[in-house]
Amino acid sequence: MNNCLFCRISAKKIPANIIYEDSEAVAFEDINPQAPVHVLIIPKKHISTVLEINPEDNALIGHLFRVAAEIAKEKGIEKSGFRLLMNTNSDAGQTVFHIHLHLLGGRQMHWPPG
Ligand code: AMP
Ligand code: ZN
Repeated sequence: MNNCLFCRISAKKIPANIIYEDSEAVAFEDINPQAPVHVLIIPKKHISTVLEINPEDNALIGHLFRVAAEIAKEKGIEKSGFRLLMNTNSDAGQTVFHIHLHLLGGRQMHWPPG
């Protein structure tokens, strides 16, 4: 997936502020943060959207949430709270077609989201 931005970040071909990495996942600061804490957690495996998640990916997706929770604790926002989300396709505003879990926190989130 040479033309995928997040595959390239995960392969270190494009720089990013990577704050966590293991054999399955990478987390880095969003380049255009929408909150004081805005981190993207991605699988190293290329999956375009949540629609392409297969049963074999179940543990991987769970892992992304566990990494997000650990980062929330490291950032000190676990008690104040945070939001985790994945945008899918155009109505949600998905712009990068490699799934990424947004971790947003450090300010009051609004509901319903815009
Ligand atoms: P989405 O709209 O859910 O597809 O989110 C894509 C996110 O990726 C946006 O929040 C962008 O700011 C972020 N983004 C795009 N390019 C980069 C990059 N090179 N490094 C870090 N974050 C990026
Ligand atoms: Zn990719």
